Amino acid sequence: MLRLSRRQLLKVAGAGAATLALAPLARFAVRAEEKKAAAAAGFTLPTLPYDYGALDPSISRKTMDLHHNKHHQAYVTNLNKALEGQDDLLKMPVDDLLRNIDKVPERIRQAVINNGGGHANHSLFWQVMAAPGKKGGGEPKGDLAKAIDTAFDSFDKFKQAFADAGMKRFGSGWAWLVPGKEKLEIISLPNQDSPLLKGQTPILGLDVWEHAYYVDYPADRAAYIAKWWNVVNWSNVAERYSKAKG
Ligand code: MN
Repeated sequence: MLRLSRRQLLKVAGAGAATLALAPLARFAVRAEEKKAAAAAGFTLPTLPYDYGALDPSISRKTMDLHHNKHHQAYVTNLNKALEGQDDLLKMPVDDLLRNIDKVPERIRQAVINNGGGHANHSLFWQVMAAPGKKGGGEPKGDLAKAIDTAFDSFDKFKQAFADAGMKRFGSGWAWLVPGKEKLEIISLPNQDSPLLKGQTPILGLDVWEHAYYVDYPADRAAYIAKWWNVVNWSNVAERYSKAKG
């Protein structure tokens, strides 16, 4: 807030009556601009469904804070920048934007793949995790448990195959669990490429970018993945599975 002393005010007044006459109009114009900016802001960073420290010790408060407030925020900011002026695209849910990537103008398509993917992937990631004992950890139940057994023989074998997909991803990327045509499938994609780009619906995702684990597990992706199972929210994954099946 701009505060002026009496002396400064007199000085401003002396600068001319025009300035004063314009001031209310200028304030109105600024408010209108702010309103416009808020309406056209597009995508926003979702709040975490738990406290930053909730996943500790699997994932520390420091990592969650950086990952959510810096990395995820940057994807949101850059997605909005890339889509500046494209009001129709800014209004779409990010998942639909990625499913319909062909409709995005070619000159900004890669930026949307990277930053829209980053936004969608992280939005899912926060939801498929929970504090141990507060929905985090344990094993899947019901239809999802059956589908995992059908596709991978057992929960343990599934975990091994999923961890392998995360370990073998060279550089940055994600391991994903997606319902395939007949059964559940594990895939791994580079960078922020979302399964939605290929018409697949992710129900579980594991971020294996170094920013996801380097503070807590320096140079040890395997240790990160091993501890990550303690915070997987299987009821959220089961909901996604049942919606994806339709
Ligand atoms: Mn990440």
